[in-house]
Amino acid sequence: MNKRLQCVRCLYSVFHPLGLVLDDEGVCSGCRIHEEKDTLDWGVRWKKLEDLVSPYKVESGRTYDCIVPVTGGNDSHFIVHTVKNRLGLNPLLVTYNKYFNTALGIRNLANLRIKFNCDIVVQNVNPMAVRNITRTTLRELGSMYWPCIAGQTVFPVQTAVRYKVPLIIWGAHQGLEQVGMFSHEHEVEMTRRYRKDHDLMGKEADDLLSIFDTLSEDDVWQYRYPDDADLASVGVRGIYLGNYVRWDPKPQHEEMVRQFDYQGATFGRTFDTYDHVDCYNFMDVHDHIKYLKHGYAKVTDHACREIRHGRLTRDQALALVRFHEVQPMAHLDKFCEWLRVDARALAFIFNQHRNPKVWQEIGPGEWRRQPDCDFTQGDTPRSNDSGLLGFEAHDFLHMGGPCAYITVGKGYPL
Ligand SMILES: [Zn+2]
Repeated sequence: MNKRLQCVRCLYSVFHPLGLVLDDEGVCSGCRIHEEKDTLDWGVRWKKLEDLVSPYKVESGRTYDCIVPVTGGNDSHFIVHTVKNRLGLNPLLVTYNKYFNTALGIRNLANLRIKFNCDIVVQNVNPMAVRNITRTTLRELGSMYWPCIAGQTVFPVQTAVRYKVPLIIWGAHQGLEQVGMFSHEHEVEMTRRYRKDHDLMGKEADDLLSIFDTLSEDDVWQYRYPDDADLASVGVRGIYLGNYVRWDPKPQHEEMVRQFDYQGATFGRTFDTYDHVDCYNFMDVHDHIKYLKHGYAKVTDHACREIRHGRLTRDQALALVRFHEVQPMAHLDKFCEWLRVDARALAFIFNQHRNPKVWQEIGPGEWRRQPDCDFTQGDTPRSNDSGLLGFEAHDFLHMGGPCAYITVGKGYPL
């Protein structure tokens, strides 16, 4: 392991795709910004948030105070709880249908809508267009998740313009949380630019049209970000709760499990049971591709977060990462069927997107990590024992039903 390339405190390296720097002590920018969580006065910051949102409260009650993007996983219950119960706002929930839905995700989304008594708008883009785009972005960009991320990040903004509800409230900012791209005190807000550069790998919907002749106007128009004039006329802005609340997903999820019956599930490729339970692919096929492209998987994100919050030592985290990042995909067959591509063709595409900084081909179809870029090698034993952390699984992703994508969910009870 080369200490000059990897943080001495967490497991991130300078190859992190969002960009990360190490200081003179070898500590990364993400770990340094994390220190703010224990030095900032969160009471003062909460007051700032209350002051910020108060002009957006609609006294007449005839429309919504804000938009909250949600899914049947991640931090959605906590965000809606904070917005509705603590800030006293009346949110319109919006969700983009990824089509890779698990039964548990459908159940959690229904639970969210019912327990918090909120209206919800669901965007179902024509599935043929979604498949067309997925085939193209997977082949050309090595991304099967481009339409999911594009949809999740654009639909709330389109809804804000359409309903003339200017305030959008997101959870944590990934660039701040993972790599310390901003300080909490910058109070960074949603931008078109960050979405394009980082969420969408530099390609907006119209860029796909001009680059790839496999797509047409009909495929991509739903993913277009509203233009500046429309955004300005409504006064749309998107804020992040993580700038005002000491963000720590594990206890937040535990509170949501206790209070509102949020449910988690076990994954092969990580120890976190709460994060992406709405999707068969995020912690599976998509995560395998992330590993090939960037040399690390989502379990490293979870492990770094747990190190920073003081719940794992670096060695414990490394042992978990070493175990989980090499676990086989469990849901590849469903993705092949959905995309109408066979597994061998898909494996060929995956290999084309292996990062040469990370991987070396040592024989036909045989790959090994480049020595300079192998941060999870070493003597640490592999371990799947995260028991002491106390992540709970309440059900299976399929909840005992058929293990298949639920294209459009019925709600709850199923
Ligand atoms: Zn670090």
